[in-house]
Amino acid sequence: MSLSSLLSGLLSDSDQTTESPVETGASESDAAATTVIHECRNCGTNVSAETTRCPACDGDDIVTYSID
Ligand SMILES: [Zn+2]
Repeated sequence: MSLSSLLSGLLSDSDQTTESPVETGASESDAAATTVIHECRNCGTNVSAETTRCPACDGDDIVTYSID
């Protein structure tokens, strides 16, 4: 096994598990007239748009609201 193939395998694995931390209560009140809320249906935690699994309760039931 070569070192380079081992490293590239590790790098591609880490790409799939990258998750950004979620901060609740962050308000973005500029530009867009429509606010989209992504929220865990199980515990109500606000998550980011690309989040598919709740960081608080590990649930995967994310609901999306649009607020004008
Ligand atoms: Zn949750």
